[in-house]
Amino acid sequence: MANFIKNIVIEDLESGKHDSIITRFPPEPNGYLHIGHAKSICLNFGLANEFNGKVNLRFDDTNPLKEDIEYINSIQEDIQWLGFKWSNLYYASNYFDEMYKRAVVLIKKGLAYVDELSAEEIKEYRGTLTEAGKNSPYRDRSIEENLDLFTRMKNGEFENGSKVLRAKIDMSSPNINFRDPVIYRISHSTHHNTGDKWCIYPMYSFAHPLEDAVEGITHSLCSLEFEDQRPLYDWFVRECEMENVPRQIEFARLNMTNTVMSKRKLKLLVDNNVTDGWDDPRMPTISGLRRRGYTPEAIRNFCEHIGLSKVNSTVDSEYLDHFLREDLQAKAPLTLGVVKPLKLIITNYPEGQSENLEIENNAKDESQGKRTITFSRELYIEQDDFMEEPVKKYFRLFPGNEVRLKGAYFVKCNDFVKDENGNVVEIHCTYDPETKSGSGFTGRKVKSTIHWVDANNCVPCEFRLYQPLILDDAPENEGKHFLEQINPNSMEILQGFVEPVQIKDAKKLDKFQFVRNGFFSVDTKYTTDDKLVFNRIVPLKSSFKIQK
Ligand code: ATP
Ligand code: MG
Repeated sequence: MANFIKNIVIEDLESGKHDSIITRFPPEPNGYLHIGHAKSICLNFGLANEFNGKVNLRFDDTNPLKEDIEYINSIQEDIQWLGFKWSNLYYASNYFDEMYKRAVVLIKKGLAYVDELSAEEIKEYRGTLTEAGKNSPYRDRSIEENLDLFTRMKNGEFENGSKVLRAKIDMSSPNINFRDPVIYRISHSTHHNTGDKWCIYPMYSFAHPLEDAVEGITHSLCSLEFEDQRPLYDWFVRECEMENVPRQIEFARLNMTNTVMSKRKLKLLVDNNVTDGWDDPRMPTISGLRRRGYTPEAIRNFCEHIGLSKVNSTVDSEYLDHFLREDLQAKAPLTLGVVKPLKLIITNYPEGQSENLEIENNAKDESQGKRTITFSRELYIEQDDFMEEPVKKYFRLFPGNEVRLKGAYFVKCNDFVKDENGNVVEIHCTYDPETKSGSGFTGRKVKSTIHWVDANNCVPCEFRLYQPLILDDAPENEGKHFLEQINPNSMEILQGFVEPVQIKDAKKLDKFQFVRNGFFSVDTKYTTDDKLVFNRIVPLKSSFKIQK
């Protein structure tokens, strides 16, 4: 699919500006990747693949406090699972020496100074959109003094927060980013990669352009919030005298309805035990989507179709479900499974008897063959397929009504049994042997076909059905904290039954289409040798209309 970034790449290759392209995906390892990152991954890796270029996975690990090896591992696993390979794996922290040198270049050119204002003062001095900032009293130190102080900052002579290195640009620039941005701060902390070697760390707006330039990135793709930073990005590349000049291009980040999309917020869900870890099937993390049963194909197709834009918008989360159904429709075996069982007894079927029925694996595709299921006196159907007193237009089972059991016979409900709480626990039917599926019976018609399993030959399973974790459509709207928008009914755990043949070799993450109930995937965490646990990925249909 065409998009404006691809057009820029084509132009740059045709004009000879670049012989080949290098893109990068630069996550900060402070959490697990989410579906928003998938958009960026598909874009960066997709471009590199399409134009025979390279793509670097770069851990943007310039902040020593929030980063963790667990995140570094999960990020690599998720990118590979999505189906992509990086050309090189880099750590921004490996460039700390280089960055330090470049900061010294700025100081020597009179373009950076050591400031001693506090963080609050710096903020106050910065001014506002309508008001110019004012110069720090430390702004006009000599180059020698700046070099000396910066060396001593590096040597650990000063406390956290007591000094910073700032670029010396223009305190009255209309672009606030140019008002002497901080480029180094003091933080006496141990870094996962560089240990205790450094006690000063570069700020993102300084580090990022240098990282891109060092790696020879040609097209540095980032989200729209960085548009205002682009002039500063170019300033750092130029004034630090970097050899390679990368081009920053911004695109709209992915937002989805009923979804929070930021590692920091997702971490709050994990830390507050709202979810069962980062890979909870309700999480929009790649690992959560994987565990829920979404496929790499569905996610990639989704990312391709949402397209690229320069305007922020919110995508309906059901749009992803569309691509999952499209992917699994042909791949996931059709299976009979009852998620909320109700016992059905066929009173005119002999006790102890059982028969084999041939059922088509896919009614729309004969080539998929048939399988054998058993039928006997006791079955399970869905609780929802029976109503003691039917509502209008309810054509399934109720006393006196007849339906078809999928692949089997017509059954007519005559009676039912309730428990002491008034719940229907068993229904009694009679079947008509003349009406066997495939026998060509045309005597009379029924309005419904319902699914079932043979109570004497089925496997007990657990089913986990999901609703959005976040109630609000747009959880990041002003004034509402997303932690107060948690859906208390986001997971329903049910005990039901599945026909045995289809699932006999089921492994974790195998996918099935349970007739009328939707697409399911075998859970990786709660499935044991003794019990299959299925996550419902999506129900069969949605109200969502896809625009063609
Ligand atoms: P988060 O707030 O989730 O931590 P981030 O923007 O800080 O996100 P990083 O891990 O620092 O994410 O960035 C990795 C890359 O992924 C960046 O290039 C960023 O632009 C991109 N990215 C992150 N979130 C989205 C999103 N929702 N849509 C598109 N791209 C995204
Ligand atoms: Mg971040």
